[in-house]
Amino acid sequence: MRLILLGPPGAGKGTQAKVLSQEYKIRHISTGDMLREAVAEGTQLGLKAKPYMTKGALVPDDIIIDITLERLKKDNLANGFILDGFPRTIEQAKRLSAAFKKTNLLIDAVLYFKTSEQISLKRLTGRRVCEACGANFHIKNIPPKKEGVCDKCGNRLVQRDDDKVDTILKRLKVYEAETALLIDYYKKEGLLEEVSGDLDVYELFENLKVLFAAKKL
Ligand code: AMP
Repeated sequence: MRLILLGPPGAGKGTQAKVLSQEYKIRHISTGDMLREAVAEGTQLGLKAKPYMTKGALVPDDIIIDITLERLKKDNLANGFILDGFPRTIEQAKRLSAAFKKTNLLIDAVLYFKTSEQISLKRLTGRRVCEACGANFHIKNIPPKKEGVCDKCGNRLVQRDDDKVDTILKRLKVYEAETALLIDYYKKEGLLEEVSGDLDVYELFENLKVLFAAKKL
């Protein structure tokens, strides 16, 4: 199964991608995770990307595209993959299509997580992540057993820098201005499947299973 997940910040793409990748044993590739790792390790990419990420802007195409395409080349994608957070601009989508054409990889579907702003905001303001292992929690929806402590590794849970209200509002604006254009782009390519990002992760997962069965994926 070869999927692209599209939708605003807080649509639940990352959480759903984790469930799908476990269920179908396919790779989950998140450019957000890739960039956060680079920032944590202090690599060249991390140093360049950090100022954009902190203020809720997109990392410029000339920084992100080649690095992501290189990474995709190295991964074994033959058994399928879920691309989460890439592409985010028309230029990224065009370059991705060209790269896939070269290697004869076909995308099965672009899942567009249509999500209300209210739900996105609630998810993002309540999100907490483990500073050591990166596990995700939510103060209401997925609370850890002990407040502020990761269930998986016992380390501290923190709020992502870009999950503060002002930055979230900026990220939502950037999504509308730059990324939402991809809805039409992939509709024209005949790949778009609209699903509800407002649903809880397992409700949506059940709907997706029906969709995949109908598409014979
Ligand atoms: P995410 O975890 O997907 O919300 O990504 C976190 C941040 O990483 C975004 O707000 C951007 O600053 C940056 N980022 C992730 N993916 C991309 C991309 N495809 N293009 C540009 N910036 C990206």
